[in-house]
Amino acid sequence: VLRMESVRKTFGGSVVLRDVDLEVAPHTVTALIGASGSGKSTLLRCANLLEDIDDGAIWLDGEEITDPRVDQDAVRRRIGVVFQSYNLFPHMTVLDNITLAPRRVHGVPRAEAEERARALLDRLGLSGKAGAYPDRLSGGQQQRVAIVRALAVRPRLLLLDEITAALDPELVGEVLNVVRDLKADGMTMVLATHEMGFARDVADQVCFLDGGVVLERGTAEQVFGDPRQERTRQFLRRIV
Ligand code: ATP
Ligand code: MG
Repeated sequence: VLRMESVRKTFGGSVVLRDVDLEVAPHTVTALIGASGSGKSTLLRCANLLEDIDDGAIWLDGEEITDPRVDQDAVRRRIGVVFQSYNLFPHMTVLDNITLAPRRVHGVPRAEAEERARALLDRLGLSGKAGAYPDRLSGGQQQRVAIVRALAVRPRLLLLDEITAALDPELVGEVLNVVRDLKADGMTMVLATHEMGFARDVADQVCFLDGGVVLERGTAEQVFGDPRQERTRQFLRRIV
């Protein structure tokens, strides 16, 4: 679904991503792990064309999306993104938050957009919340609404950046369960996370970033169970 080749990203002279290669197969979950500042969010932002890359190339479904002739808005419409801060519009109901993009950007008729939104809300355990305003919801509920909003445009790929980082510990589980359900449904996802137990549990592929380099990658069992690099071992020792 997604492929990155030799991606390099600099901010004002400092290299933030160095020669990053990444291959994300359909219906798989890739977890990006690594210390704060290692480049996880930047990698996700590059994948979504929120950042221009300095070198290398990125493909989505076989199309090179870093080609300057590509319609970037059309590419972004195929990718769902959820960040740590849910960024829901406070003056809109849950239902309006979710149906805004399908209606405005994708031209889906209101009735159809709302029907789809309600089906997704049901699935994520938010049936009664369609008419509520975001400030009436718990953090976990808001984050689930943000996930519904990302799913409402039927993306090919979902990018999730620390989606549990702003949540109280007791609300983390409900959001992680949603990710597990999406995986069971075959959604392709790339997620940056500090939740190692979760990464180990849900990821097909784990990439350890260190100073903008993918230092180690493999299955969850490999990277967590038997890391090859000393740096990876150090990192895992420190946080587990
Ligand atoms: P965290 O776990 O804290 O979220 P991260 O792995 O997501 O960290 P990034 O946010 O990708 O790390 O940041 C990687 C590096 O790039 C950091 O050194 C950061 O200071 C730098 N950086 C990120 N965005 C910018 C920007 N817009 N301008 C300049 N430097 C930036
Ligand atoms: Mg980050």
